Amino acid sequence: MKHRPGRHFLQIPGPTNVPDRVLRAMDRPTIDHRGPEFASLTKEILEACRAVFRTSGAIAIFPSSGTGAWEACLVNTLSPGDKVLMHETGQFATLWRTMAERLQLEVEFLPGDWRHGVDPAELEARLREDRQHAIRAVAIVHNETSTGITNRLAEVRRALDHAGHPALFFVDAVSSLGCMPYEHDAWEIDVTVTGSQKGLMLPPGLGLHAISKKALAAAKSSRMPKSYWSWDEILGSNRDGFFPYTPATNLLYGLREALAMLSEEGLEAVFARHARHGEAARAAVRRWGLELLPLDSREYSNSVTTVLMPPGHDPDAFRALTFDRYDLSLGMGLGKVKGKVFRIGHLGDFNDLMLMGSLAGVELGLRLAGVPHHAGGVQAAMDVCSARDAVVNPRLQPV
Ligand SMILES: *Cc1c(COP(=O)(O)O)cnc(C)c1O
Repeated sequence: MKHRPGRHFLQIPGPTNVPDRVLRAMDRPTIDHRGPEFASLTKEILEACRAVFRTSGAIAIFPSSGTGAWEACLVNTLSPGDKVLMHETGQFATLWRTMAERLQLEVEFLPGDWRHGVDPAELEARLREDRQHAIRAVAIVHNETSTGITNRLAEVRRALDHAGHPALFFVDAVSSLGCMPYEHDAWEIDVTVTGSQKGLMLPPGLGLHAISKKALAAAKSSRMPKSYWSWDEILGSNRDGFFPYTPATNLLYGLREALAMLSEEGLEAVFARHARHGEAARAAVRRWGLELLPLDSREYSNSVTTVLMPPGHDPDAFRALTFDRYDLSLGMGLGKVKGKVFRIGHLGDFNDLMLMGSLAGVELGLRLAGVPHHAGGVQAAMDVCSARDAVVNPRLQPV
């Protein structure tokens, strides 16, 4: 590979750019994971995680991808043949469904068009029909990274309440936690699933759970086979600051640093920053005259923007071009929208100028690839970020 001067722009929607502070925090000798120094590290991290998940309950950290944490959620709470209600919001919901079926759960998959999120009214109606309460769990992807659609979780929660249904509520927050408001306790979520490499700004390698008391109670009667993923083992050891097997020690150093960074910036400011970048990216797309994949403005994602390529133009050839020429990695279309869209990730450790650079890379690429568009997308994004009422860090706002 030839040397590429300057910084690479990693604008896929995860893994995200790892901040230098996190890289430096991980660049340390690995310590004895059964020693006292390690126990205090674990305890400190579990406490800091609670602030981000917004829970006072149990946290589990697995050395795994987000996919592993999906599996851990299902096998700890359910039994073979249990019915799970899922919604086809995109590729990640589809993958989670496939996993559930492989694990011999019975999945009811409400169909979707990949351009809308979960309809809370439809969900409520479906749950009301289930008078016998055969549905054991509802599992939703908060932010569908494949489509750039964020489900309205607070409304989904209310739909469960209005239906008076006792189902467990599982949420994949892999690309939303640390990017947009999330309330594990207040939204009465039973298991929140996430991974280290998106809003948490770490390299891949950690799967995390926040777990409600109701989920812990369900775990007592769960009959799914489990060993590595068993909460019994991990929660028991974690309480004393340890793990049942070798943890990803250096990623935990990184996690401690990343959680400190989120706390120093302030979660409200982190969410405002993501909201501003989402708005600015969408303004650029509109100015280019291109189409956003999501159709409902209430569901726009603030961590990833998915753009439909005009017919006759190949988004993957376009992505190859932006990589070659500008050292900019954009996300590809997944599943049903493969070959139809490209995605701009703007989550994690990211600022206004990095966004302008990324959008300039997209605009230059559109020009070079001969994709019909109007110039001025970057200008439109600048207008959003410099507006007097721009969503900015409240701590930095002039008085
Ligand atoms: C990235 C992602 C996953 C999968 O995480 P892996 O670490 O790749 O297994 C799951 N769900 C969502 C919404 C994601 O964005």
